[in-house]
Amino acid sequence: MNKMVEETVKNMMQPGERTREDYIGEDGLLYCGQCHEPKEAYFDQEKVGVLGIKKHPRECECRRQKRKEEEQYREQQRHEAVVRELKEHCFSDRSMKEWTFKNDKGLSENTVLAKLYVKDWETMKAENTGYLFWGAVGTGKSFLAGCIANALLEQEIEVRMNNFAEVLNDLSANFSEKNTYIKNLCRVPLLILDDFGMERGTEYGLEQIYAVIDGRYRSGKPLIATTNLTLQELKNPQDTAHARIYDRLLEMCVPVQFKGESFRKRTAQEKLGRMQKRIKEKMR
Ligand SMILES: [Zn+2]
Repeated sequence: MNKMVEETVKNMMQPGERTREDYIGEDGLLYCGQCHEPKEAYFDQEKVGVLGIKKHPRECECRRQKRKEEEQYREQQRHEAVVRELKEHCFSDRSMKEWTFKNDKGLSENTVLAKLYVKDWETMKAENTGYLFWGAVGTGKSFLAGCIANALLEQEIEVRMNNFAEVLNDLSANFSEKNTYIKNLCRVPLLILDDFGMERGTEYGLEQIYAVIDGRYRSGKPLIATTNLTLQELKNPQDTAHARIYDRLLEMCVPVQFKGESFRKRTAQEKLGRMQKRIKEKMR
C-alpha cells in the first residue's frame, strides 16, 4: 500500500483519545472540547455494509495542528543533520563554519556581489559562472567566499572549500586514489579554491591542477577562487603551463577586486575623523 494512504488509514482507525471536555453532539458524534470539531465521522452507507461499523475517528483541528508541528520538527531535525554533515565535509578548518553573512559585521561592497551569487545560484550553476576574488592579503576574500559556501550549504547544496596549497600538495604526491581525488573535486556542485597561487607548483602539480579546473570546465561546473595575485599577473602568465590554467580560470570566473582598504577600516576612520572634528569644536 502507498505509504501516505497507509498513514491516513492508520490515523482514521486510531480511536481519538477522549478528554474530559469532549462531548457528544446532536448528530451523535464525539466532539473536541477544545476546537469543537468532531473527533469522529460516519462512514457512508456502502462502507457500513462492508465493515459493519458506522463511525471512524477523524482528526480535529488540535490534532491536525499537533501532527503538523511534529512533522515540522522532524523535517527541521533532518535538515540540520544534513547541513551539519555537509559542513563537516566542506571545510578543512572548523572556524570556517562561522564565516557567514550574519557574522559579516562590516558590510563590504563585495558582500552584495557574494549575496547575489547565492540568490542567483541556479543561474550561476547553469551558466557555469564563478568568481575570482583577487586583491591584497587581509581584504576579506576568503571570508566572503566562506559566506557563499555556508549560505549554499544551508540550502543543502554540496560545496567544497579547499586551501589551494593543500590541494596542490595532495596532487603533487603520487598516490593510488588520485583519480578518485580529482573526480571528487570535479563532482561537487561548487568548488572553492582558497588562496590560489602557483609559486610552489611543480610541473607535475600544475598538470594535475589543470586537470581539475579543466574537468570542471568540461562538465560545466562553477568554481570560485580567491587569490593574492593581481589580475595583471593572471593575464600575463610566465609560461604556457600557467597560461592555460589562468585562461581557464578567467573564462569561468568573474574577477572581483578586493581593495586594500577595507570598508570596516574606512568606517572606523570616518568615525575617528568626526570625533576629532567635534573635539576641535569644543576646544575653541
Ligand atoms: Zn480539537
